[in-house]
Amino acid sequence: MKHQFEQLRLESVCRNFVNAEGQPVAALQGLDLNIRRGEFIALLGPSGCGKSTALNCIAGLQPLSGGGIWLDEKRIDVLPPEKRGFGMVFQNYALFPHMSVLDNVGFGLKMRGVAKAETAKRAREALQLVQLVGHEKKLPGQLSGGQQQRVAIARAIVIEPPLILMDEPLSNLDTKLRIEMRAEIRRIHTQLDRATIYVTHDQDEALSMADRIVVMREGVVQQVATPKEVYGRPKNLHVARFMGYRNVLPFTLEGTQGEGVAVEANGVRLVGMAMDGFSSKRVAVALRPEDMERAAPGSENAFDAQVTTVEYGGRDSLIRVKSAFGELWARVAGEFTEGERITLRVPPTRTLVYDGEPT
Ligand code: ATP
Repeated sequence: MKHQFEQLRLESVCRNFVNAEGQPVAALQGLDLNIRRGEFIALLGPSGCGKSTALNCIAGLQPLSGGGIWLDEKRIDVLPPEKRGFGMVFQNYALFPHMSVLDNVGFGLKMRGVAKAETAKRAREALQLVQLVGHEKKLPGQLSGGQQQRVAIARAIVIEPPLILMDEPLSNLDTKLRIEMRAEIRRIHTQLDRATIYVTHDQDEALSMADRIVVMREGVVQQVATPKEVYGRPKNLHVARFMGYRNVLPFTLEGTQGEGVAVEANGVRLVGMAMDGFSSKRVAVALRPEDMERAAPGSENAFDAQVTTVEYGGRDSLIRVKSAFGELWARVAGEFTEGERITLRVPPTRTLVYDGEPT
């Protein structure tokens, strides 16, 4: 296999822009990252957090404003994109509409001066890997969105790149296809044994596909960890909110309790997990609506609530409730009526306690 590597290293990578008003924008502020061969890394964060900028800097489509990028011992941020030789897949496929599928896939090899027969052979192998055999002669417009994205992936991998960079590749597909393609991209990644860097704003996509997730916000990395860690132990409230901890409420710290900490607000006492060291008794408790369940009054970590709004969802309902410690969302099995009084419970391991007031 060509171009194999052990590690891609980003050190203090910065990228600044000047916006339309002439103000400086730090799109990427000191990004440090090590990616090993075989890893699938997701860059995750809300729109504008710098994900695409990071990917473009790695690809060489944008120059760095500071820092450096190394592929093993070789510094690569000084090289033009074609010398880095990474495969890229974009949201909009970027296929040549008047070229056949086979020619689209072989294009990169042709540009590199690979002989015609060898190009066709390798393009066919790539199409086999993305399971598009039989479609070689078609034009991109004759394929479905999912098939076009497979062509784009085949075109990216045919040059046998050490690294495959994908920028929201599934955003244009419908939900069902998107979920199928997640597994498909993961399969292709495993089969190739290269590294993939995948940009997405979709938590589920990142959680289901990546070995490690890089959570970004306003150009700054918030957390680099496995999906399980990012989901179960978000590093701070920004990551927690982004991972679906929609309820963030102020509590007072009472002290430790077993392996957890006890918190109190307006007569409601909960036991939760300490996510920080604490600088004062003011804490913020983060809860996912999905982690709530109905309970008998007086159960551990239970509280009384009154339903204010109901969104029926089939298997469960998303309800807004008023409790002694504030209003919150809960997604719970069963049907509810507005005004109904219920008791909810949240497990201590799913009650995350952060230092300081909710932000
Ligand atoms: P999205 O998911 O919306 O593409 P993103 O996380 O990929 O968002 P970037 O596209 O990397 O974010 O943008 C990061 C920041 O840099 C944003 O504030 C954006 O407005 C700014 N930015 C990006 N490209 C330029 C540019 N060419 N000129 C000026 N500002 C830019």
